[in-house]
Amino acid sequence: MTDIFKDALSRLDKAISFIDVDKEALEKLRHPKMISQVSIPVRRDNGSLSIFTGYRVQHNSTRGPVKGGIRFHPNVSLEEVKALAFWMTIKCAVIGIPFGGAKGGVIVDTKKLSRMELERLSRGYMCMLADVLGPDRDIPAPDVYTNSMIMGWMMEEYSTIKRQYTPAVITGKPIPMGGSQGRDDATGMGAFLCIQELAKKLNWDAKNMTVAVQGFGNAGQNIAKVLAQHGYKIVAVSDSQGGVYDQDGLDVPPLIAGKLTTKKLKAPGAKKITNAKLLELDVDILIPAAMEDQITKKNAARIKARCIVEVANGPIKLDGEATLLRKKIMIIPDVLANAGGVAVSYFEWVQNKAGDYWTAKKVRKRLSDLMSKEFGNVYQTMTQYKTDMRTAAYIHALLRYSEAVKARGTEGYFDGENKLL
Ligand code: GLU
Repeated sequence: MTDIFKDALSRLDKAISFIDVDKEALEKLRHPKMISQVSIPVRRDNGSLSIFTGYRVQHNSTRGPVKGGIRFHPNVSLEEVKALAFWMTIKCAVIGIPFGGAKGGVIVDTKKLSRMELERLSRGYMCMLADVLGPDRDIPAPDVYTNSMIMGWMMEEYSTIKRQYTPAVITGKPIPMGGSQGRDDATGMGAFLCIQELAKKLNWDAKNMTVAVQGFGNAGQNIAKVLAQHGYKIVAVSDSQGGVYDQDGLDVPPLIAGKLTTKKLKAPGAKKITNAKLLELDVDILIPAAMEDQITKKNAARIKARCIVEVANGPIKLDGEATLLRKKIMIIPDVLANAGGVAVSYFEWVQNKAGDYWTAKKVRKRLSDLMSKEFGNVYQTMTQYKTDMRTAAYIHALLRYSEAVKARGTEGYFDGENKLL
């Protein structure tokens, strides 16, 4: 994990070998704008005190206030949060929403907290970072092991601190607290829309397509559900404990119901499979929807999927990617494939600011229009530059981002070379 931010930045190098990007604009991307680290005191149910370390990295605000989720996980590190914040800057530029990137995290195993302790920790995080967050400054959202209830607590905490009801400070809230229709399944839906667009380009027939999903949290469940509804055969799914595999296809709705009620993956008649083996299945579409660095130089040569859809952030480590590309595996990159989440977060923020709430149908239509358009842009860039889809997404994002940098004036303008004025 130590080189994750460095790895993330080196994806830029490939993209800039195709286009001319102002060197100042590029240099800004290599340095997060602001990093906050806090120690959050939490009173435990037994009366003792625990201190948790939390981070917020505000990466780049050239295109607007910064935006990105908050992750609660035992492996959170500053390097990881920096990489995740950088990816948010790229992601918001790929889909053209007016935000820069940020990310937050707390080093914690939520499974070891009671509900009351989780609430105290969530409110404590907001309390300690309220001065650097805000609806026009930095707008958090859910991420791994955080959910709408946590977003609701944080919004209320912020509103109490500011003495003003402020729903637009955070997105992914419960609907009665200013959340948006369609935010819950937005990440899965965005990935599905990308797959549908690719299916049109490559003449896929859903009925002949097999899919394996690694990770069965919110995004993994929703992408499996919607793909199954559209005729794709989901042959394997897994969570952190391992997975289930059935070559005839799994029945997804009872799997989700079982996972939500018992926290376990149960499928009658299915074989057990490890996470490592799931990644190596011979399927048409592999969907890593869990954590970073799942496919590395150690297992890349054994990956047999025809297409990988990165629903997780950063599931393919830089050192494994070249092997996949050599094998002509098509990769829909995270900064496009999972952008549906932040897209609907943007819609939620717009609704909060306007005080005007949209129907589920309107949210769905806006998401579908946005994802189809930006998938099309990335695909066209890929064809134009004869490169892979990740590099194309970065080119597309960098061009948008550099326009915003240039609009403020760069070296060329200040040394008089640019005769605009
Ligand atoms: N955590 C999500 C992501 O990685 C959503 C961020 C947001 O909605 O701001 O894209």
